[in-house]
Amino acid sequence: MPESTPRLRETLDRLPAYVAGRPPTAAPGLTPYKLSSNENPYPPLPGVLEAIGTAAAAVNRYPDPASSLLVDALAERHDLPRDHLALGTGSVGLLQQAVQISAGPGDEVLYAWRSFEAYPIMTIISGATPVQVPLRADETHDLDAMADAITERTRLVFVCTPNNPTGTVVRQDDLDRFLGRVPDDVLVIVDEAYVEFVRDPAAVRGIETYRHRPNVAVLRTFSKAYGLAGLRVGFAVAHPRVAQALRQTQVPFGVSSVAQAAAIASLGAETALLERVDILVGERTRVEAALAGQGWRLPPSQANFVWLRLGDRIAEFVAACAAVNLAVRPYGDDGVRITIGETEANDRVLEVCARFAPSGTS
Ligand SMILES: *Cc1c(COP(=O)(O)O)cnc(C)c1O
Repeated sequence: MPESTPRLRETLDRLPAYVAGRPPTAAPGLTPYKLSSNENPYPPLPGVLEAIGTAAAAVNRYPDPASSLLVDALAERHDLPRDHLALGTGSVGLLQQAVQISAGPGDEVLYAWRSFEAYPIMTIISGATPVQVPLRADETHDLDAMADAITERTRLVFVCTPNNPTGTVVRQDDLDRFLGRVPDDVLVIVDEAYVEFVRDPAAVRGIETYRHRPNVAVLRTFSKAYGLAGLRVGFAVAHPRVAQALRQTQVPFGVSSVAQAAAIASLGAETALLERVDILVGERTRVEAALAGQGWRLPPSQANFVWLRLGDRIAEFVAACAAVNLAVRPYGDDGVRITIGETEANDRVLEVCARFAPSGTS
């Protein structure tokens, strides 16, 4: 038989793999903690679990493809017209759609680097060209360099704030100045996956920004602060033409009835959920202070993770974490991202970090 295989798109050869956070290894005697995917350590609230159970009983039916009740709840919660909303299978689903609606072969998609690893993947799948602008030395977006990098081919810009994996935010005044330099016909997506963890008053407020900027859209998710990563639901806030295009490119019935019900219940239980976010922010503050005490100089994190530039000690650090049942997330030769988790998990992280501290304290 002749060796043959269907001819697929060449762009697939340039596709980087999405590296999912690994589960912890199971050394005996120590509770394992997964601090590699920025998940919420709290299980769903009882009311949310109940909504999931009720919806689960009817999964022989297709979900409402328009997610109407969830759209209603989000429109009310954020004071938005319904036609300014689009739902997706996590905000990753929506960011893929954002590339699909704006950029194809010959077009450029611009973003900071390092940033969220889904940006290059979705860009390359679409056949467009990724343009990556290095972060500044303080790990923040270099918006001046990004504005300089805009060309006639630029069709989409991602601004990730807080930035994954560095935790740094873009300041509102810097974003406003940047947007002043972006042509009106270039779509700018502000990815706010971690916005609920932000406490810096100077940080970007995406939904306020989009209200008077027709080329700006915002991505939000139920995966992080709301603790529904396993159910895959996120939303975009955008002006009607863009929101409609995002709805048009959605996988039909992609957002399950279970996800819709859980998201609605979570909005109803927001006060309790945001109290948990406060606790995680408190843990972040505690971890950052302890790391500073060990001699680490870190970019201030406004998300549910911290970022350690470890250079050539990355593999050694990851192994030291694995040896005590902690899964963390390494990034090439750059650094390691560690999710803020349970208090005991964070304490164990600090013990490992002390051994690697720049000041040599241990
Ligand atoms: C986690 C994350 C998302 C969203 O994830 P979903 O689970 O697909 O909603 C989006 N952007 C960034 C930067 C993230 O870190």
